Amino acid sequence: MKNVLNDPVVNVKGIGEKLEQGLNSLGIYTVEDLLFYFPARYDVYEIKPLSELIHDDKVTIEGKVSSEPSLTFYGKRKSRLSFNLQVEHVTVKAVMFNRAFAKKQLQVGDMVTLTGKWDQHRLQITVSNYQKGRAKSDAKIQPIYALKSDVSNIQIKKAVTTALSQYQDDLQEILPEEYLSAYKLPGRLEAVKHMHFPDNHQVLKHARRRFTYEEFLLFQLKMQLLRKRKRESTFGNSQDYQAKDVEKFVEALPFQLTAAQSRSLNEVMTDMRSPYRMNRLLQGDVGSGKTAVAAIALYATITAGKQGALMVPTEILAEQHFQSLQELFADKASVVLLTGSVKGKRRKQVLQEIADKQADIIIGTHALIQEEVVFQDLGLVIVDEQHRFGVEQRRVLRDKGLHPDVLFMTATPIPRTLAITAFGDMDVSVIDEMPSGRKQVETYWVKENMLDRVLQFIQKEVDNGHQAYVVCPLIEESDKLDIQNAVELYQQLQEIYAPKTAVGLMHGRLPADEKEEVMRKFAANDIQVLVSTTVVEVGVNVPNASVMVIYDAERFGLSQLHQLRGRVGRGDAQSYCILVADPKGEVGKERMKIMTETTNGFELSEEDLKLRGPGDFFGKKQSGMPEFRVADMVHDYRALETARTDAQQILASGALDENPVFQKLAQYVYNDKIVKGETLD
Ligand code: ADP
Ligand code: MG
Repeated sequence: MKNVLNDPVVNVKGIGEKLEQGLNSLGIYTVEDLLFYFPARYDVYEIKPLSELIHDDKVTIEGKVSSEPSLTFYGKRKSRLSFNLQVEHVTVKAVMFNRAFAKKQLQVGDMVTLTGKWDQHRLQITVSNYQKGRAKSDAKIQPIYALKSDVSNIQIKKAVTTALSQYQDDLQEILPEEYLSAYKLPGRLEAVKHMHFPDNHQVLKHARRRFTYEEFLLFQLKMQLLRKRKRESTFGNSQDYQAKDVEKFVEALPFQLTAAQSRSLNEVMTDMRSPYRMNRLLQGDVGSGKTAVAAIALYATITAGKQGALMVPTEILAEQHFQSLQELFADKASVVLLTGSVKGKRRKQVLQEIADKQADIIIGTHALIQEEVVFQDLGLVIVDEQHRFGVEQRRVLRDKGLHPDVLFMTATPIPRTLAITAFGDMDVSVIDEMPSGRKQVETYWVKENMLDRVLQFIQKEVDNGHQAYVVCPLIEESDKLDIQNAVELYQQLQEIYAPKTAVGLMHGRLPADEKEEVMRKFAANDIQVLVSTTVVEVGVNVPNASVMVIYDAERFGLSQLHQLRGRVGRGDAQSYCILVADPKGEVGKERMKIMTETTNGFELSEEDLKLRGPGDFFGKKQSGMPEFRVADMVHDYRALETARTDAQQILASGALDENPVFQKLAQYVYNDKIVKGETLD
């Protein structure tokens, strides 16, 4: 069936070639584009008594012109028109810039309605919009469109109005009735009308709600279809693990899994058993027990007769995991370590063991996926801190002919909203609960002038047998300066604390063996105070450390501060995080306050997202965030979740393809470029 909404926009009555070109430059090519070119914002003309006007607000007032408008020119082609206005027996001054032509239109005694910025002290309005006569009650909320070239707001308003009456029978509903009534959403035509010309805030809100949901639902349907296709292309990837053995292994752990761990483990195991390749993200705060889940999954792989690999971003971390997994698996599996530091004969031996499957579990940095490494039968790859692991490295595995199940783990609590959109082709499991009995880290925010007391506090904790991290001021985009800073701070603290207390230094430029030496000493409590740049962020585990001091805390993202804080509070002792910061703005202060108020990483990341926007999580360019007309991923994340669940149901039930009430929706989904496979890699 021909969809007339796809007609060129010039088919709308009253739109000529010139206007068509202008509209094209705004990305409006079809009638549908025009109808869905929603206002960027609205001007509200609501007349209030003078006494209720707020300084600096945009306001609308009505009154009589009471002085001859006087016009002055200045600069090149700039002008200023001013006149008095009688409003409720008060004289108000009106100023208009660069609208010399208005002088002729305004006469003493004329009734006018002015909108503009209000200056309460001078009783003056700087006019952005004026209209002769009294305000019309039906023109209270005015659409303001994003404009370019020489198309005016009025032209778009007119074009939309005409298009709406000309095509209203063709603008059909695409959401099934039951969804509209369940969520109390207005119909599509009504909602389009209200987006452009709302009578009041209420109907505008509902229209927005409707399109937010519609956009998210379409988006989720598309993403999930894609994911399904990608999965199905890996058919034949089932891992036949021994459920009984796995159960025993879990029972033998020195603790009981939390409900969140069990749930996540279940999801992982189901994926492994399924005939499709697993592509899952496991999120959870530092210490929430992700590694425990990973270990169980690795064990499952072994019972299926396959090898498992754990890839981590740093050598220190690889070694820590190696030690703990060796203990955990004891005689159940052979665990090997492969990093850049494993060299010569030992390396050859490890490679051999991997190749002939003597090694069941391989732990390492990305040395793991280098060419020389040949797995015999790789069933599962677990990647810790997937931020640091690129698409490229995944391709390497694929190119080796390996299609293992892949589990990504991250302690950066990416807001769920972002995870399910940005990683739309990934499944997500969340461990949102800490093992019981953990003490919360107490967090304080102090100004720089309290540093002396902070240093005394560190000494006190050290005297009590504990250790401390001191994270250096962060100097943007200069690794060198960061290090210089760290070295200076290190020397200072040495002077203060020596000889009783040993101070160590850690930064990214240290040679690998020195880094390890420092970490080893800190782990053994040969160093009590560790000065460090942010390299310490990634998964080091020193349970005896009870203090984390972070300089210049306002420069870090909340999520990063939270990561750093996660370095302490890993033992039995009460731990402390001290943020040293003198933030200038309100947002900065707010962020410091939030840190002291919550230790929930997900809450923090949601806050971070609100305060800083999604770009900061992924880097602006690579974010690949979808763009929506109406919906806002940050503020409407609940709707996104709802749409996601609905999309799952619609696809699982086969309704999209079979149920006639979904026919219109299906057209929209299947007509999408990506879904058609045109841009799929
Ligand atoms: P993550 O990898 O998320 O940082 P880990 O798996 O390393 O967390 O767990 C942190 C610590 O908590 C480890 O010492 C681990 O043995 C312990 N742990 C994990 N799960 C539980 C649990 N359910 N109950 C008690 N302790 C747990
Ligand atoms: Mg599988």
